[in-house]
Amino acid sequence: MSTNGKKVDFDVIGIGAGFAGLALIHYLRGAGLSVRIFDRASDVGGTWAWNRYPGAATDSESYYYCLTFSKELLQQWSWTKRYPGRQETQDYMRFVADKCDMWPHIQLNTEIVDAEYQVDDGIWQVTTAAGDRFTCKYFVSGMGMISEPLIPNIKGMDQFKGPLFHSSRWPKEGLDYAGKRIGIIGAGATTVQMVPELAKTAASVTVFQRTPNYILPAMQKPMTPEWEKEIKDNYDAIVAKCRNHVFGMAFDSPVGRNAVDTPEEERQRIFEENWTGSFRCVFETFDDLLANPEANRMASEFIIAKMKARVKDPKLADLLAPSFDDYPLFAKRPPLDHGYLEAFNEDHVHLVDIKDAEPLVEITETGVRTTRNHYEFDIIVLATGFNAYTGALEAFPIRGATGQTLSEKWRTSSDCIMGVCVSDFPNMFVVTGPQAPFANLPTSIEQNVIWITHCIEKMEREGYDIFKPRREAEEAWTAHTAEIHAQTLMAEGHKVNSWMMGANRQDKPPRVLIYFGGANNYYDTLDKSAAEGFPELEFEKLGA
Ligand code: NAP
Repeated sequence: MSTNGKKVDFDVIGIGAGFAGLALIHYLRGAGLSVRIFDRASDVGGTWAWNRYPGAATDSESYYYCLTFSKELLQQWSWTKRYPGRQETQDYMRFVADKCDMWPHIQLNTEIVDAEYQVDDGIWQVTTAAGDRFTCKYFVSGMGMISEPLIPNIKGMDQFKGPLFHSSRWPKEGLDYAGKRIGIIGAGATTVQMVPELAKTAASVTVFQRTPNYILPAMQKPMTPEWEKEIKDNYDAIVAKCRNHVFGMAFDSPVGRNAVDTPEEERQRIFEENWTGSFRCVFETFDDLLANPEANRMASEFIIAKMKARVKDPKLADLLAPSFDDYPLFAKRPPLDHGYLEAFNEDHVHLVDIKDAEPLVEITETGVRTTRNHYEFDIIVLATGFNAYTGALEAFPIRGATGQTLSEKWRTSSDCIMGVCVSDFPNMFVVTGPQAPFANLPTSIEQNVIWITHCIEKMEREGYDIFKPRREAEEAWTAHTAEIHAQTLMAEGHKVNSWMMGANRQDKPPRVLIYFGGANNYYDTLDKSAAEGFPELEFEKLGA
């Protein structure tokens, strides 16, 4: 393609060969565009290429944690479980890449270290770590919203003699942890998945916990032939359910009743009946749990009682369970567990309360020192979370029309238009960027990529060179997102370092990162925008 007489290497360059990269290839190639997806990983998979820690599995149920553009693929692929493990999900992505002949569009083992908009030519130039440069008309980030590790600044981290790494950088060659003493710093969703698996063979597993979580049971189960048939016979309805659900999942919502209006006995019965694993006990019980503090207290107390019942030692149970008085359910994203709480009933699995009892002091050559003890380890895992939503976009310079980087632009507020476009960054799209919903990601990713494709099709059809995201549209979406956010209990996340508000970072203040107005409403907004010709964007012809 030629823009302003200038040749570009590709119509579209995207970063990230996870679900976003695969969806971009499918939809944009279908629109007749040349696409190159770069990824620094050695395989497709995105988050599933990196998070190789034992026990890693999806928290969405398998049959809707997938791309839906091909009915044939949905019928051909068979999941083995309710929640597939990391490897199975990555295998699925390889299957998609194989079946759809996507590999020629994917360049692995290639890290992009710089991306710059060239104002005069209206094109983007990206630079790889090896110094190669590529140009494109449209630049798309599919780098993921929970992909940039948050490495804590703990004294002595470089002193430890054994392996010490972030959970999302688990050694690819595998690590022989059988018979080893493992220390884990952090007690979020990653740790909750990791502990039961590590505990099977490790000599000991010790979790250093600051804030306890509301932990929901996954209730894993195998995929049976009957269940698979039921799913495959009803895939259209399942896909539609995800598209119409507030969190993009194949659940029913709204359920049409409030916890606060339901008599106690009936309320308990409804919670109990929906204690069937996944997020169903929150999303399929009552509509007011995430906005009304009293309703939230009811759900929180139900979950806390369920958690404590699984831990034999009452003191330990008290430490593992959160308290509504400290923070409400969903102010932090609740983990799903596969035997985490029961693991603490075993003698070789330990919890250290680093919030009140014995704060962390330092990492030493041989372990972790708190104010009270020194714990000896062979391996230390930093399960300390991620710079969510913006982290990957801030990790290297992405410069827009003014020369400012995204990181500079987002010092105090991560303004964005519908999570897909950013003012002063022409011809750039973000898949599930800041102020997009937090939802079943393949659903959101596909909806974003469809919108992006329609936008590029309009540009090409009508002969435009540049689109400029309008600042007033960004201000309006940011204000709308903030207004809704303030009406939810997720707004309390800043009290407990929630990544959902960027409150786990030291370098930037907490902010509104997520649109909580319902993923379904958000998808409607994207569709309306496309139908109306993308009023959030200003289209231009160079030299016109
Ligand atoms: P996380 O939920 O942010 O948890 C990080 C943990 O590290 C927290 O317990 C935090 O304590 C602790 N921590 C951070 N810095 C620390 C420090 N300097 N000293 C001591 N403790 C520190 O991170 P995550 O567990 O990796 O999960 C992040 C998100 O990734 C999840 O919420 C989820 O959305 C996604 N995820 C998804 C899946 C899945 O779908 N299958 C699996 C894993 C993760 P505080 O809470 O006190 O700050």
